[in-house]
Amino acid sequence: MTNSNNRLRIALQKKGRLSKDCNELLKQCGVKITWNEQRLIAYSENLPIEILRVRDDDIPGLVFDGVVDLGIIGENVLEEEELGRIAGGEKVEYKKLRTLDFGGCRLSLAIDRDQPYHSVQDFNNALIATSYPNLLKRYMKEQGVPFKSILLNGSVEVAPSAGIAHAICDLVSSGATLEANGLKEVEVIYQSKACLIQRAEPLDGDKQQLVDKLLTRIQGVQQAAE
Ligand code: ATP
Ligand code: ZN
Repeated sequence: MTNSNNRLRIALQKKGRLSKDCNELLKQCGVKITWNEQRLIAYSENLPIEILRVRDDDIPGLVFDGVVDLGIIGENVLEEEELGRIAGGEKVEYKKLRTLDFGGCRLSLAIDRDQPYHSVQDFNNALIATSYPNLLKRYMKEQGVPFKSILLNGSVEVAPSAGIAHAICDLVSSGATLEANGLKEVEVIYQSKACLIQRAEPLDGDKQQLVDKLLTRIQGVQQAAE
């Protein structure tokens, strides 16, 4: 089911680390939205735009499948989903319109603070807990290090102390969470920012014009902030 209504449909994270910046960006671009906490869909008052508010993990798929026209998503989640679909034999198509200047973080390998560390070879045959098995697999393959992963979608940082993994591969921004859990960051495997993506299937003329207008405004807003 592709979006064929008259409003440009944009998927944004409902609640989380990207929400505030996404809402702020739309506001700065002159898109007025009436937000209703309970509602899945929000409408713009002044432009033919509707916002689908979802879990961030669902955003790449919604864009790949053409259910929404645009999405704002962390590159980490985007590439993880893309690699997963490719591994499953699916074709993945979308257009990356722009990297945004928020949502910055890195995906890193971390181990027990007291454990000595020499190189990525230390992870040889290690058991690593992560929410990003595909990004981790790509990195370890490049490094030529065999390993095993356990998928955890939350509380990844407690895995070593709970005795269920030797190490973790998780998102880091300040490092405070790692520290609080007695861990140290030893390798950065991926640098991420939020980005704006568009479905691959062409939009009708009016919608594409609106996307171009939004993109120009985003460029203006982000340059002003630099
Ligand atoms: P949802 O409920 O939508 O699934 P979530 O808990 O998976 O939310 P958040 O923690 O809100 O996700 O993070 C969303 C995105 O924000 C991350 O995927 C990442 O791109 C970005 N981000 C920026 N800094 C951090 C950080 N320190 N930790 C985690 N994510 C961060
Ligand atoms: Zn999520």
